[in-house]
Amino acid sequence: MSDRRTAIVTGAGRGIGAAIATRLAQDGLAVAVLDLSEESCADTVAAITDAGGSAIAVGADVSDEASVTAAVDKVAAELGAPTVLVNNAGILRDNLLFKMSVDDWDAVLGVHLRGAFLMTRAVQKHMVDAGWGRVVNLSSTSALGNRGQANYSAAKAGMQGFTKTLAIELGKFGVTANAIAPGFIQTDMTKATAERVGMEWEDFVKANADAIPVKRGGVPEDIAHTASFFASEGAGFVSGQVIYVAGGPRD
Ligand code: NAP
Repeated sequence: MSDRRTAIVTGAGRGIGAAIATRLAQDGLAVAVLDLSEESCADTVAAITDAGGSAIAVGADVSDEASVTAAVDKVAAELGAPTVLVNNAGILRDNLLFKMSVDDWDAVLGVHLRGAFLMTRAVQKHMVDAGWGRVVNLSSTSALGNRGQANYSAAKAGMQGFTKTLAIELGKFGVTANAIAPGFIQTDMTKATAERVGMEWEDFVKANADAIPVKRGGVPEDIAHTASFFASEGAGFVSGQVIYVAGGPRD
């Protein structure tokens, strides 16, 4: 087995996760592309291996403890001990509070928060053993509050507190933990939001772009670039931080 580092990126079958997985592979890491099913990882794995990188597909539900344990064991056996973890898997179940079901609440908290907890708990032992690790968690500008997203904003604010606590607990083992809070990024997730609010995609992108200083919609590569920095060797003194990648300042 080579001495190249191994990363796990959750929700990497498409969207932001796929871009992060591809970027980390370009940076020289072996990448476990994790999504709900192995089949949904195929495009990302092919993009990486076609470009000469190293990747495997891992089907797992991050909100299920047994599934997470099996997934992390598989990565360690097939690709090497994972020492970079990007908790990116996510879902939306938007609704105004008075219409939000308990299932909508539980599903969102389950994937984002419980999922990040289970994945990080399973991977941290490999990082501690190696005396080196990088955890990158996907938060969101919605952590600051967003109409129709009581569940999602709570989960994304929770990701920030989780990140800071990981930084405090794991720092002495050479492990950093940081969060990326994207603004509007053009993916299937935001396409579904455009549909839900009854807007044409182009109009939705333009409305979001017009509302921010850089006047363009974000793309998955914008987030991948930031994840690459947090995962890099040189970022070892940066920990417990939340960086808003949103085309302008946020509080
Ligand atoms: P996306 O296109 O919907 O991709 C999310 C991926 O996560 C999908 O491949 C999905 O699998 C996977 N997934 C969902 N539940 C999972 C589970 N239980 N276990 C494993 N994988 C699971 O979303 P995205 O826009 O790329 O978002 C990625 C992350 O960035 C999310 O955490 C999101 O909250 C965050 N974010 C996005 C934006 C934005 O504007 N797009 C802004 C701020 C933050 P399936 O395809 O099988 O459903």
